Amino acid sequence: MARVPVIAGNWKMYKTQQEAIELLMKLMEMNETVSDREIVVCPPFPFLGLAHQAVSHSNIKLGAQNCYFEKEGAYTGEVSVSMLKSVKCSHVIIGHSERRQFFGETDESVNKKIKAALAEGLTPIVCIGETLAEREEGRMMQVIKTQVEGGFSGLHKEEMQKLIIAYEPIWAIGTGKTATPEQAEEVHAYIRKLLADGWYGETSESIRILYGGSVKPENIDDLMEKLNIDGALVGGASLKAESFTRIIQFQAKKGSN
Ligand code: PEP
Repeated sequence: MARVPVIAGNWKMYKTQQEAIELLMKLMEMNETVSDREIVVCPPFPFLGLAHQAVSHSNIKLGAQNCYFEKEGAYTGEVSVSMLKSVKCSHVIIGHSERRQFFGETDESVNKKIKAALAEGLTPIVCIGETLAEREEGRMMQVIKTQVEGGFSGLHKEEMQKLIIAYEPIWAIGTGKTATPEQAEEVHAYIRKLLADGWYGETSESIRILYGGSVKPENIDDLMEKLNIDGALVGGASLKAESFTRIIQFQAKKGSN
């Protein structure tokens, strides 16, 4: 089953408002003819409203980097899914490893956030991935399984089809160390098999699984050739129009290696 590739940029806590708009303007101009893949940018919360105005007539979609699962209330500092919807976000990153590491995100909160996002019609980009120690101790697949089972608990097939998974080995994020295409493909294939065997059967074939972790212009083509790699979640290299554009405009023959 053909899965439309997704290239998503996670700007993390970088850029001023002016820099954000300048970057979006350049990206729109450099990618205006791209139509066979989805482009998503995830700027910091304060820039989302203005960013929407900038990209609203383009092929660039807008995502947030996090959300809270409650609809509204006395939750100082949090941002609800309906707030994101009101500034026309279509996507939201959930469970990024930096949120798990620094802000106490768990599979349980990830699960609640996924359900809240889906209920409002947003597309969750759900991050999972192992640490270097977990990989070296041979616990990688078990860690992935626990995150998949906990994060996606109680979701129906139709809901799973609407979300995007991002496999991001923590040791590769922001370190310059990319998983090889073979290492990434091994885990992507495992995630798809877990979903198929566990609950979702053939539905797993239509779920997009992105790779994230030091994706750069130099490695995107090789990564995208792998059968189960359906796109990329890009941090550092999404902060410059030239590098992100080269990643968006990857060239790959699926399944040729
Ligand atoms: C990320 O933030 O999701 C990420 C993969 O970052 P980087 O591309 O910088 O490793």
